[in-house]
Amino acid sequence: MTAPKIEHVAVIGGGVAGVAAAWAAHARGARVSLYYGPAGATELASGAADLEPWAPAPAHGEDGVGSAEDEGALTPTEREFLRALGYWCEGPARIATRVGVVRPCLARDPALLDLEPLAGSIIGVACVERDDWDGAALARTLESSTWAGRTGTRFRPEPLGILLEGYERRIPAADFAALFDEQRRRSLLLDELRGWRSRMPELGAILCGPWLGLEATTLQEVQGALPVPVGECTSAPGGVAGLRFAAARARLLQRLGVESQPEWVERVRPARGGWELVTASAASTGSAAAAAVGPFSCVVLAVGGLVSGGIEFTPRQETGSAFRLCVDVPVQFSIDGEPLEQVSSCYGFDPMTLRGAWIERAGVHVDRAGRAGPRGLFAVGDVAAGRPRTVLAAARSAIKAVGAIG
Ligand SMILES: Cc1cc2nc3c(=O)[nH]c(=O)nc-3n(C[C@H](O)[C@H](O)[C@H](O)COP(=O)(O)OP(=O)(O)OC[C@H]3O[C@@H](n4cnc5c(N)ncnc54)[C@H](O)[C@@H]3O)c2cc1C
Repeated sequence: MTAPKIEHVAVIGGGVAGVAAAWAAHARGARVSLYYGPAGATELASGAADLEPWAPAPAHGEDGVGSAEDEGALTPTEREFLRALGYWCEGPARIATRVGVVRPCLARDPALLDLEPLAGSIIGVACVERDDWDGAALARTLESSTWAGRTGTRFRPEPLGILLEGYERRIPAADFAALFDEQRRRSLLLDELRGWRSRMPELGAILCGPWLGLEATTLQEVQGALPVPVGECTSAPGGVAGLRFAAARARLLQRLGVESQPEWVERVRPARGGWELVTASAASTGSAAAAAVGPFSCVVLAVGGLVSGGIEFTPRQETGSAFRLCVDVPVQFSIDGEPLEQVSSCYGFDPMTLRGAWIERAGVHVDRAGRAGPRGLFAVGDVAAGRPRTVLAAARSAIKAVGAIG
């Protein structure tokens, strides 16, 4: 096989790692084809973007370990990618999760209210009669957080009458958010927010659930119409944050002229000095030869980890590793630098001796640049072993891998 050149790159995966790889390969002058399946971790995530995994402090479940300031800095290229994508806004912030934890993040969905500059003020928390929302409990929990105690920040619940129909109590949060993209509903929301603010002029900001519209323009209109900051707490999996990422992804790929296909890739195999792919729909036509697409000079596997089905884990296998990649491609699995091709689930190491979510640490064995084996084959993001499972670490690994091609 010849040395990998940056000519025609296939990216498998439409999460943040795949999009970052496509962006970086395009910036290097490559033709890029991107294939993606159903929503992966990026589309299920909360709107917060970290480099290192964030975790709540075990004893109190609030504030978290480390702080936004502790996290490593993004490189200029990573910043450029975030700007090109136009979704996560960069900068350390302190945000509220939907279960009342105050936590740091390095970048965020612009809808998420940054609490840091609001330290010491009174923040209103919207009480909306939805089945998945308890504004009063959220306000109490946030006010009892270490951060609120330390900074003297208060959280005040207040009813917000923005439901018009009974069914709006129960529809998914993302569908509820979409209602406010419509002008009439947005006006109702704005009237309610303005009324609240004039009743309570002492409010320094207003915290809502993840419902401030799906469209960036809705958010801008709502945030621009109030004299105080208005924002959301984090999304639940499958909420608005993932949909906003997907919209930004579509805009970026279109702008770059990346050929993106909602196609499941079944197989990656060597062909004509490079690689070719067999997609599920093409494979169903019968002839494997006719089904192949390519050749590609490089393939970037950005298929995600266990959450998105990029990696499958089947314990108690009689042969081979308990881990399997969703794509048929010649790669090795490893965990903490140890290869995992031994017999059966976990044979050869005792998972109980490993700290933390050991299953999540397993992935495709890669070198520092993300090379996954034969020339021109890379694994980036959650599918790669030895990488933090976070949005910004996924983007970083993709940008780094593409930089190493050729
Ligand atoms: C509920 C939840 C909350 C999270 N919260 C945070 C957080 O607060 N902060 C943070 O930084 N990180 C968070 N994360 C982690 C973060 O979302 C992931 O680390 C990151 O998004 C991984 O991106 P990725 O591109 O590697 O994979 P994914 O986003 O999983 O993308 C994988 C892509 O590959 C595609 N794919 C898979 N197999 C195939 C195939 N065979 N053919 C074609 N396409 C395929 C999928 O369709 C998908 O598009 C969270 C994750 C989850 C699940």
